[in-house]
Amino acid sequence: MAAHKTIVIVGGGITGLSAAYYLQKEIKANSLPYEVKLVEASERLGGKIQTYQKDGFTIERGPDSFLARKKPAVKLAEEVGLGEQLIRNGTGQSYILVNNQLHKMPSGAFMGIPTQVRPFLFSGIFSMKGKLRAGFDFILPKGEPISDQSLGAFFRRRFGDELVENLIEPLLSGIYAGDIDDMSLMSTFPNFYKLEQEHRSLVKGLQKSMPKPQKSTGKKPGMFYSLPDGLESLVTKVTEKLDEGTVTLGTTVDHVEKKENGYHLLLSNGEVYKADAVIMAAPHYTLPKIFSQYDFFRSFNDMPATSVANVALAFDESAIKKDIDGTGFVVSRNSDYRITACTWTHKKWPSTTPKGKALVRCYVGRPSDQSVVDLSDDEIIDIVLKDLNKTMDITAEPEFSVVTRWKNAMPQYTVGHQERIANIRKEAREQLPGLFLTGSSFEGIGVPDCIEQGEKAVSDVLEFLQD
Ligand code: FAD
Repeated sequence: MAAHKTIVIVGGGITGLSAAYYLQKEIKANSLPYEVKLVEASERLGGKIQTYQKDGFTIERGPDSFLARKKPAVKLAEEVGLGEQLIRNGTGQSYILVNNQLHKMPSGAFMGIPTQVRPFLFSGIFSMKGKLRAGFDFILPKGEPISDQSLGAFFRRRFGDELVENLIEPLLSGIYAGDIDDMSLMSTFPNFYKLEQEHRSLVKGLQKSMPKPQKSTGKKPGMFYSLPDGLESLVTKVTEKLDEGTVTLGTTVDHVEKKENGYHLLLSNGEVYKADAVIMAAPHYTLPKIFSQYDFFRSFNDMPATSVANVALAFDESAIKKDIDGTGFVVSRNSDYRITACTWTHKKWPSTTPKGKALVRCYVGRPSDQSVVDLSDDEIIDIVLKDLNKTMDITAEPEFSVVTRWKNAMPQYTVGHQERIANIRKEAREQLPGLFLTGSSFEGIGVPDCIEQGEKAVSDVLEFLQD
């Protein structure tokens, strides 16, 4: 029988938790002589997944849902017994604010890229010149093969600035809270590069590769999943499945030292954990300090992470005089607004809101307006209400509001990200065998991407320990 081995996971966000869950599952299934420990700096598990319940409202401080088509999150929910409870978002018209005017999102847009010509031709979002320029996509040659480029450069070349600034940018930078002209195409939407290389025209490529709409069976299902009591119930369920004694809360891993046989992890409570393998599931910017003796981690100091804040505002339904029939809007940068997006949560996720009430959730903190995140709650709420009243007519104060700041929470995959990460991983493999880097700083920030990375770290660890 192989010797008893210990794997320590650093960070109890959804990545670290998924790693712990799948690791213990493998240990049990294969009777492996391994023990798993998870160390989390804060007093709770879940990291950015945080649900707050108040007066019958379910308020997400972090992510509110995940993409249904990305399977790892659905699989994890099913594994822990939540598969039947997954709920899809309510579908409805979504909007975009361009030059201070609210417009309907043209139908047939996939991440802002047209898949049908007519709705774009008749949309008020673009000038005739902008529409003509976007049409160049049909005739422009494909770009030269290149290892990476910015999303902005790529889409501007194919469609021109107007389509990018009025539609693609507000949608995509909303997901990453980044600047489209800095963001890496290959680390965010490599499929668009592939489409261009294979089909030349992105519109034609999308038309050919997207599943054909089913013959009408009523309303299209929503693209996202959540849970009736919020996403944190996934965290709770996964935690319940972990062996007792796995998790240490309120304790930071301050330093990791490589020893002859494995690692010593120095904890903030003075303890030292010995490990045969380590899964680092904490944000990239913690690594240079934790591994201060290794110069190659210093390049993480140059990897940006932006800040955002969101504000959930709970109203009586009667307070909103001029409501709009839809689920929310995103804001283009040519609009004189500081909010970047607004979700009418009571319509998108009806189970979050008691009958007769309304729940509106807005974001602030575009890359050029990071200081807004440091304003006081009252100042942020004031900004949000003023902006909302430009499109809606809200006649009463919110019953309550919840401001959540996320400082340096959105890791930025800028051009060349994949190559930089590959170089760091190579150094880590050579100098720190048995150390695995995983999580939202690396191969995807979406909840399903993080779960997938946690699972991948498990197979890497098992392979390493079995060698
Ligand atoms: P984290 O959740 O950041 O977890 C890392 C953990 O490591 C933290 O708990 C931290 O306390 C701990 N830690 C740090 N340093 C140490 C240390 N030295 N020792 C021990 N522990 C340490 N994704 C979607 O799919 N859909 C959405 O709707 C969506 N919306 C979002 C909205 C917001 C406001 C934010 C911020 C993100 C959103 N995301 C969304 C992205 C997604 O939520 C995150 O990428 C994901 O939850 C990150 O998980 P993680 O485990 O990698 O990191």
